[in-house]
Amino acid sequence: MHWEHIVDIIESRGQTGFPTLPCQDQFFDRFNQTPQPITYDQLMRENFENTSAPLRAFFDDVMDTCSVDVLAYYLPFHGNSNWGIYILDAGVDMLATSLIHLSDHRLARLDAEYLAKHKLLLHELGHHAVEIVHTSLESDPNNPVPGSYRSTRLPGTQAQRFHENEEAVCNRSVKWNKSEFEIRALSHFDVVSDFMITQPPGYNRFGEIKNSNLLENILDTRLTGPLQPETSSNLEKEFFTHSTLPRVRPGSIIGLNNPIGFVVPLYLIRTGKQLKK
Ligand SMILES: [Zn+2]
Repeated sequence: MHWEHIVDIIESRGQTGFPTLPCQDQFFDRFNQTPQPITYDQLMRENFENTSAPLRAFFDDVMDTCSVDVLAYYLPFHGNSNWGIYILDAGVDMLATSLIHLSDHRLARLDAEYLAKHKLLLHELGHHAVEIVHTSLESDPNNPVPGSYRSTRLPGTQAQRFHENEEAVCNRSVKWNKSEFEIRALSHFDVVSDFMITQPPGYNRFGEIKNSNLLENILDTRLTGPLQPETSSNLEKEFFTHSTLPRVRPGSIIGLNNPIGFVVPLYLIRTGKQLKK
């Protein structure tokens, strides 16, 4: 999947009115602060402890359904020119605090923030990789499946199932990248895993996702029909290429590490102790 395909989709007139998911509304309707572009390195240097609006009650309310997708959100390029990963300052703070509790206070605050940021980035990169898989199918020259991504976003009886399956895949993707949770050569993935297990339906089923059932959990198989083995293998490859951390690191935009030619844009929303009404 290359940048040109994505630009085509962003510019496609047929994409206006792309369906929005309930968790997207939960995330964006709440905050009127303008998101600021931020690089991966800048994000890592931030410390969000006590810098954001008090949102504990709001998170308690919506995390039952949207889990980490109210702490950060992936806005897809289908239907959005301002696509990318949106990180909420209060979301990083909330997750870092939860990880400290889960570690019985063994985790230092800065390390917990590092883990929280990587957890959020990798989960949202999972959503990006899912969109890339659909986009590859939509633009497959041999057997295109138009509307593949849209079909998983439509409201209706299947909506919850698609949502839960995709969330399981995104948290599985966090686990597939567990090496990113090493700090000073010590793995802290267990505490991240403990957090994911306590999350709502779908999010907590990441243990059930394997290479062999990845695609059936993210595609609308009624629409795609059975896939050729070669197609499946290409789509899996796309998922694993686009779900890793180098996809948000501008330092890897050129050269052998990034033959793709773009990085996923990152945005930071600072709540700054102020909220819409
Ligand atoms: Zn998610």
